[in-house]
Amino acid sequence: SAPDPAIEEVKEKLSTVKHKLLVLSGKGGVGKSTFSAQLAYGLAEDEDKQIALLDVDLCGPSIPKMMGLENEQVHHSGSGWSPVYVEDNLAVMSIGFLINSPDDAIIWRGPKKNGMIKQFLRDVDWGEVDYLIVDTPPGTSDEHLSVVQYLSTACIDGAVIITTPQEVSLQDVRKEINFCRKVNVPIIGIVENMSGFICPKCKNKSQIFPPTTGGSEKMCNDLGIPLLGSIPLDEAIGRTCDSGKSFLTNVPDSPAVFSYRKIIQRI
Ligand code: ADP
Repeated sequence: SAPDPAIEEVKEKLSTVKHKLLVLSGKGGVGKSTFSAQLAYGLAEDEDKQIALLDVDLCGPSIPKMMGLENEQVHHSGSGWSPVYVEDNLAVMSIGFLINSPDDAIIWRGPKKNGMIKQFLRDVDWGEVDYLIVDTPPGTSDEHLSVVQYLSTACIDGAVIITTPQEVSLQDVRKEINFCRKVNVPIIGIVENMSGFICPKCKNKSQIFPPTTGGSEKMCNDLGIPLLGSIPLDEAIGRTCDSGKSFLTNVPDSPAVFSYRKIIQRI
C-alpha cells in the first residue's frame, strides 16, 4: 500500500524541531509522566532553549495537571493548533486540552487514536524548538507504533525508559527495549524511579520495591544499555507535581532533585 502522506507532512512540520525524545515505560504508575514534565522544566531552565512537551497518553493525560495547565484549551492558528505556553520557552500540547473536563473518560479505538496522534504530530505549530519531549502511554500499544511510524522520516533522537526497581516493572522494560530495537529507535538509557526511600526524619534509605533479580543496573549491564540514574521516592515529588509546578526549582534541597538534575544533564 502507498505510504501515508502524513508521514511526509509530519517530517515537514517538525523540520523546525532539533531533537525529538520519547519517554517510555513498560508499566503505568512508575513516574513516566512526572519524568517527562520535570525533564521539560529542567531543560527549559536554559532560557536560550525552546522546549516542547507533547502528551500522547490519550487515555490518561496527566501532563496538564503536572504543568499547572488544567482547564487550558488549545487555540486554532492559521496553520494548525497553537500549544499552551507555561513559559515563553516551554510549550505543551495534550489531549487533555481538547476534552471538556479532566474527569471525562476517553474511550477510543485504534484508528481514532492513530488519527489523533497524526494530528498532534502534524498540526501543532511548535515553531523553532530545541527539544520535543513526547510522553507516551505505558507499554507498547497502537499509539507507540503510530508515533514511531509518523516520526520515522523525521528522525527520533532516542527513547528514555522509566522503570521502578521491581522485577514486575523490569520485565515489561525488556519488552519496551525489544520494541525500540525492532522499530529502530535508539535507547538513550533507563531511569530507575522510586529507587529506595530516604526517611526525612532519620535519613536512612529503605528499599520499598526491592530488586529481586539484580535490578535495573544488572539489566542495563546485561543488555548494554546506559543506566542514566536512579531517583528515590520523595513525598515532595508527589506534592509538587500535584500543584503543577517545577519540582526542581520548588524543592531544590530534596535528594530526588539532585538525582533528577544529574540525569537531565546526561540527556
Ligand atoms: P506514570 O506516568 O508512569 O503512570 P506518574 O508520573 O503519573 O506515572 O506517577 C505516578 C505517581 O507517582 C504520581 O502521583 C507521582 O506524583 C508519583 N511519583 C512519581 N515519581 C515519584 C518519586 N520519585 N517519589 C514520589 N512520588 C513519585
